[in-house]
Amino acid sequence: MDELRYQVDLLSAMNQRLTNDEKMYRLICNTSSNAFLYVNFVDNEVRTLANWDFFFPEVELRDMKDLAKLYSQVEDRYVLPLRDLIFLEKKEMNTDSGIVRLKDGKTWVECETAILYDSMGNATDKVIRFKDISKFKKQNEELTYMAYYDMLTGLYNRNYFVRLLADYVRRAGEHNDVIAVMFMDIDDFRKINDGLGIIVGDEIVQQFGQFLSGFQGENVLVSHFNADIYCIAIYKPGGNRTVEHIYKCIHERIRKPFVLSTGQEITISVSVGVAEYPEAAKTTLELINCAEIVMFKAKGKGKDAIKYFDAPILNEFLQSVNIETKLKEAVFNQNFTMNFQPQYYADTQKLRGMEALIRWRDNDGRMISPGVFIPIAEKNGAIVPIGTWVIEESIRTFVQWKKQYDCDVILSLNISPIQYMRDEFVDGIIGIIQKYDIDPKELELEITESVLIENFKDVMEKLYILRDYGIRISLDDFGTGYSSLSYIKGLPIDTLKIDKSFIDTIISDENTRIITESIIYMVKKLGFETIAEGVETEAQLHYLKDIGCDCIQGFLLGRPLPKEEMEKLLCG
Ligand code: C2E
Ligand code: CA
Ligand code: CA
Repeated sequence: MDELRYQVDLLSAMNQRLTNDEKMYRLICNTSSNAFLYVNFVDNEVRTLANWDFFFPEVELRDMKDLAKLYSQVEDRYVLPLRDLIFLEKKEMNTDSGIVRLKDGKTWVECETAILYDSMGNATDKVIRFKDISKFKKQNEELTYMAYYDMLTGLYNRNYFVRLLADYVRRAGEHNDVIAVMFMDIDDFRKINDGLGIIVGDEIVQQFGQFLSGFQGENVLVSHFNADIYCIAIYKPGGNRTVEHIYKCIHERIRKPFVLSTGQEITISVSVGVAEYPEAAKTTLELINCAEIVMFKAKGKGKDAIKYFDAPILNEFLQSVNIETKLKEAVFNQNFTMNFQPQYYADTQKLRGMEALIRWRDNDGRMISPGVFIPIAEKNGAIVPIGTWVIEESIRTFVQWKKQYDCDVILSLNISPIQYMRDEFVDGIIGIIQKYDIDPKELELEITESVLIENFKDVMEKLYILRDYGIRISLDDFGTGYSSLSYIKGLPIDTLKIDKSFIDTIISDENTRIITESIIYMVKKLGFETIAEGVETEAQLHYLKDIGCDCIQGFLLGRPLPKEEMEKLLCG
């Protein structure tokens, strides 16, 4: 009897323990927002626990057969993986996991399993935990998106484009295929940004990017690098996937204006550089670089154009990079000298003055033309110390001559737009005039039209101050820019220099003659002095004299001369 009592007490204690355990496990389950599925393979039993209804409100599971109801809740491609998670026994592991997406297309569920085995090593029980990871997945997707795509246009960003292009390059290397890269830049985008604001700029970038995304497809990558720069790569161009076709479509589109959200209409043009693998370059970055260099070439050719890579373009570029490095050394070592080219009055052939022209002999003894290195110096900022040196060195030499030869001549200096734009420019010039005590009337500063076009107000104010101080201003290279006579009327200038390109054909071409004659006639009426540049023949000289040109500069009467040679002219 005692034995029976003992057994009953034991059973009830065990029962109590089990009930407590069940309560405890239930509580543990309920503290998380997860759902659990318990599967007993021995009894073919399934049970659902905790937040099951949150995940699968319509799925009531009683036995294994009901699992089909669970599978119907997940997207088709995840049915098999889920079934495997529930049934497969990975002998070497006690846990396993996978991710499935529900049919709503939004909910991502992570499934983690735990298994029990019997003494024979066969799985007996399994628990599958379902955890909602949609929020995490979304954040992750956003991060992935940001890592691969440009937020403004939705196109590939630069980094991802480079990675995908690298895949193209690998593939093309294996199959001997061609890849074309189009590097594209919106012309005068700075003007849009500065003039209309960056919101307008962004909208243009976005709309144009959206248009370009239409070319994206199999074997075509479209990307937005930054600001107004886009890049397209075409694998094995052909059919509709050719540079010519894409450029034609782009050109047709941008002839029509982009209508902004404000109703404003903006028309743009683009410059495009094209480089092909393997002709232009054999690596991804070189390929992009080549296309970019060619794009700059297209910009230099007056924008709104497409240009294709060829070897001379690359050589020219490599040479300019080389020059840039050497230029830095030259500025440091002051490896420059000044030459002076005489200018004469056309009627009396008396010396009017001289134009100071810089010369640079590099360490290998080669002369590098200012026509080549000045534009590079303007780009990399070296023009500022070079320009200051030119002004000081020329004026110092000029003052010595004045003292020695007591001559009545004018010194002309070429001043770069970069110098005119600097705040210190006017004070700097006046400071040097005072330092060397020269008469401002003997100094002439040459200016090109481009500086007036880009920074009209600022530069005009400076020119007025300089002229009030007595310095002469001369408009250089007239006829090569936007030159219109009506616009010259209002400029604070004293002299106008007619560009060599007019003089070159003045004898052979009647049109040039008519234009030059009317320029000189008008300019004289406006009260300006005229100088003809690049006069090389007697015929040109006589003709210019006949039509009333005031002064002559050119190889016929005198080449640019080193200081000592110029001195001989002054004393003679
Ligand atoms: P530029 O101001 O138009 O100077 C005139 C150029 O024409 C000079 O070239 C001169 O040597 C050349 N030239 C003069 N007469 C003739 C001729 O009869 N026939 C031919 N074929 N050429 C002639 P250079 O010295 O090579 O200078 C080229 C350009 O470099 C200059 O054009 C000027 O824009 C720039 N430059 C030269 N020196 C300086 C400087 O000190 N500062 C700045 N900012 N630019 C300079
Ligand atoms: Ca000049
Ligand atoms: Ca000139």
